Amino acid sequence: MNISRRHFLGVAGGMISSAAAGNCKKVFAARQPKAPPNPYGCVVDLTACVGCRTCEQACNRVNHLPPPKERLDDRTVLDQKRRPSTGAFTVINSYYSGRLDEQNQLVPTYVKVQCMHCQDPACASACITGALSKKDNGAVHYDKSKCVGCRYCLVACPFQIPAYEYFDPLTPRVRKCTFCYERISMGGKPGCAAACPMEAITFGNRQILLEGTRRKITANPVRYLNKIYGESEVGGTSWMYISKDPFEKLGFLSLPHYPMPHLTETIQHSIFAYMWAPITLFAILTGAMWKINPEQINHAPGFQAQEDHI
Ligand code: SF4
Ligand code: SF4
Ligand code: SF4
Repeated sequence: MNISRRHFLGVAGGMISSAAAGNCKKVFAARQPKAPPNPYGCVVDLTACVGCRTCEQACNRVNHLPPPKERLDDRTVLDQKRRPSTGAFTVINSYYSGRLDEQNQLVPTYVKVQCMHCQDPACASACITGALSKKDNGAVHYDKSKCVGCRYCLVACPFQIPAYEYFDPLTPRVRKCTFCYERISMGGKPGCAAACPMEAITFGNRQILLEGTRRKITANPVRYLNKIYGESEVGGTSWMYISKDPFEKLGFLSLPHYPMPHLTETIQHSIFAYMWAPITLFAILTGAMWKINPEQINHAPGFQAQEDHI
């Protein structure tokens, strides 16, 4: 996914930029990174997660999602490299980095996947109606009443997170982790963080979390790599991770440390500046994606193709 998504963005950006005959440069130049000043965040300690899927169960419960096909305590799904979907806003996947235990057995690392709630989210920037927006508390919030179903957000997300209810012909929605917006707005914790029996998910003010996590890493150099994934990727995310194993061996993407919306805002500006029909732009984006590598799109490392994604 890493290569295909970035190549896709590059190709799509090139196509759109060419079509816009250089005027997009003004858009790139004018844009300043946007982020709320004091958002909440979560840090997932991958050395503490035991893959119990209690967080998945809690997420399913607090979001009133339908029962999944596989039981929520079935641990055989951990090796399937699932991705979030319309029916599961978070999933746990297992990876083997090559680390061995005392019995010379490979040690699994369990990785929780959900919307990263980017500080400056590409999905919100791509949304032409404002249906997705970054809130002051850190949540990237979806407002169904504003959504026109264009699905630019699905294309724009560098983590391939939003899913679409293709199965619903009348009122399809974009679905993704909500950061438990209502719960945290009322002073509570996200359902998954509250439920984790290993306290692997720490919720709090993002800046204070970062400072505490840096101290934790410094105090435990054998247990943790000196890296907080999400501290600066795509301009920073509200969900962040610490690990003993290299992140690239755990399905994490190597992404630039600047916000991604420069392309997606170009899409928006192109729609209005050149009066292109949204379907035309969507066709360009989708065509570019398939042109780059359809195999990688459907079989991206760390993810499994599902019909509610592109
Ligand atoms: S509940 Fe906690 S320990 Fe269990 S899978 Fe989720 S993050 Fe890992
Ligand atoms: S991970 Fe994707 S869906 Fe979530 S906020 Fe970032 S761009 Fe949006
Ligand atoms: S923050 Fe809420 S919606 Fe997101 S994964 Fe956790 S429980 Fe699910």
